[in-house]
Amino acid sequence: MAVKIDQDACIGCGVCEGLYPDLFRMEDDGKAHVTDLTAFDIDLAREAIDECPTEAISED
Ligand code: SF4
Repeated sequence: MAVKIDQDACIGCGVCEGLYPDLFRMEDDGKAHVTDLTAFDIDLAREAIDECPTEAISED
């Protein structure tokens, strides 16, 4: 499983980074970006998908 972020939908709230900082990182553009991971925690990724207020995160 991998995830992607709809940059137009992201409002930069930081919820995803707070839940799973190894996967999601806030960058200078004020948006969350997905980092490359070798170990992937599906449960945390799914929680971030569920918690994102704008439903910007989806499975890729
Ligand atoms: S939780 Fe959603 S809206 Fe908030 S920073 Fe992450 S992707 Fe953007």
